[in-house]
Amino acid sequence: MSVFSGFFPLGLGTSRLPVSGPNDAEGLEQSVEIVLRALELGVNYVDVGHNYSAGMAPRVLKEAFRRTKRPFSTMVKVQYGEDRTADDALRRAELHLTAMGLERARFFTCWSIWSWEDFQRIMEPGGIYEGAEKLKAEGVVEHICASLHAPPADMIRMIESGAFEGVTVSYSLLNAAQMRPVLDAAKARNVGVAVMNPLGGGLIAQNRAFFSFACCEPDGGDAVHAALRFAKAHPAVDIVLGGVSSTEELEDSAALFSAPDAEPPEARMERALSSLSGIQGFCTGCKYCAGCPKGIPTYALMKARNALLFDPAASYNRQGPEELLYDLQIFRKLYYEAGWLPASGENPCVRCGKCERACTQKLDVIEGVSEIYRRAEQAGYTEAAHKARLEELLVGKGCRKVGLYPSGGFSRLVIRLYREFFGEPAFEWVLFNSDEKTWGRTDEGHVIHAPQEIGELCPDMILVCTYRFEEEIARSLRPYAEQGILIEKLHRKGEVPWVF
Ligand code: SF4
Ligand code: SF4
Repeated sequence: MSVFSGFFPLGLGTSRLPVSGPNDAEGLEQSVEIVLRALELGVNYVDVGHNYSAGMAPRVLKEAFRRTKRPFSTMVKVQYGEDRTADDALRRAELHLTAMGLERARFFTCWSIWSWEDFQRIMEPGGIYEGAEKLKAEGVVEHICASLHAPPADMIRMIESGAFEGVTVSYSLLNAAQMRPVLDAAKARNVGVAVMNPLGGGLIAQNRAFFSFACCEPDGGDAVHAALRFAKAHPAVDIVLGGVSSTEELEDSAALFSAPDAEPPEARMERALSSLSGIQGFCTGCKYCAGCPKGIPTYALMKARNALLFDPAASYNRQGPEELLYDLQIFRKLYYEAGWLPASGENPCVRCGKCERACTQKLDVIEGVSEIYRRAEQAGYTEAAHKARLEELLVGKGCRKVGLYPSGGFSRLVIRLYREFFGEPAFEWVLFNSDEKTWGRTDEGHVIHAPQEIGELCPDMILVCTYRFEEEIARSLRPYAEQGILIEKLHRKGEVPWVF
């Protein structure tokens, strides 16, 4: 028994509700109907973050919870970065609960732990975990959980630390080989598991024919059903989260989980995994090729390269070209799952063949590695490219003040990399952000200013350091260019972001 035992196997994900913002009354009502229908169908675990569905998910839930007496459990989520201290966590939890019209929630989720370092920061005295413990002692939450995105070995350490009663992890046919040890560790410690991304972030639904190998007869050829069943088949998994955007989608998944699987779970897992290994060109992530004498994490590169087997999806506000969409998928995976950023586009492989001899899938690893380095060079995904960009933009320009807009992960990285590459700057960094909640706060020792202060502070240059919204921000800064302030963008066309 875990803290997630006894819930309906389908959990309601609320990140894709059909509502676009506070003025979308129709979308709001449709979303409320979806939540009510889910509860009616027996779904009783509701996953929510304060910014889900254009920040509207808490409001949708508030309205739905007001209209029903059906039982449900939900959570407050607090993320390191956005919040840092125990007090921040208490404030965030209160805001989150108020937005949902609740006084307490079953779970406190330490949200999106990306690395062992993040975990340590959360666990520091006075940190977010301390805030969670306080809320638990006061009866505001009952269980402390986490959503983990770190490399699998670090997830296992976090699970084995005993800090969390339940975890939410990404698990699907696409990452099963690496994630099974994580699920095994959770099972051994009786830590509840809720699975996110059971459809591989949409890849399985978009490539149904490709994934039809995962189907057995009772699945009726529906790869989505087979993938959902697969995600639930591991004995550690209590809940599979389905992000729903329509009632039909919800009813389909709920009906699936209302009936028992005709295939025994163990048999389903083994059958699907062995068929997966039979797919041409697919890296299972088994890591048999590890131990490259040049230190190349061949297994990570090859696993990320699987993206090329599928149609690419638009992401990060980019609709194309196709090569960029592939690069976004490949390097996002390498950034988050392997922490891999090459020093340069120069491939250090000496073609010794060790990796290919060990590959269980008989893949052309040498060519695969070479392709990833080639792509990294083209997409600006190297330390050398970052250094060259900062040098081109900032070194020897005679600036006294350099504005970074917006403040956040990119601006922190720019400041850190500049110091690492070139030492302390001869100019002053000035941070700007349009979010009024940040004004007057400091980020890494630099005060965050409102954009309205640009004229008064008069930086020589403003560097637009975001990826998704760089066009909009650069456009909004045009009037300052007319006043002689140089407006530059951190990224060039065809590049992937410095921070994903
Ligand atoms: S062939 Fe290249 S990538 Fe493979 S193990 Fe040898 S050096 Fe490493
Ligand atoms: S051995 Fe082959 S299948 Fe396994 S991780 Fe390496 S490249 Fe992928």
